[in-house]
Amino acid sequence: MSRSFTLRHVEPSKPITFDPKKCIGCNRCVNVCPIDILLPSASNGETPVVAYPDECWYCGCCVMECPAEAIILGHPLMNQVRWVEKKSLMKEGDLK
Ligand code: SF4
Ligand code: SF4
Repeated sequence: MSRSFTLRHVEPSKPITFDPKKCIGCNRCVNVCPIDILLPSASNGETPVVAYPDECWYCGCCVMECPAEAIILGHPLMNQVRWVEKKSLMKEGDLK
């Protein structure tokens, strides 16, 4: 007797979204990622590539390092209560 079954399609996670209008292609986010899931942009004017999205630690290092605020980190729901924005860690005058 043969059995048939179907595998449920699971969408890959999408932890990082780059804003191509803000990104200056400096690759600082690529260099700071502790687990190297980002690949550098191929040329100036392009955003880096998230090569291994399912491996992301959601640590936020890339967001903190980005000088252009071009990265949006989409936290899973269980992480959202612990997230603090970069600006909330700065003292008044740090952004001047
Ligand atoms: S959140 Fe952390 S692990 Fe994920 S891409 Fe950014 S630096 Fe890498
Ligand atoms: S650090 Fe920011 S500006 Fe630089 S490549 Fe990454 S997303 Fe673009």
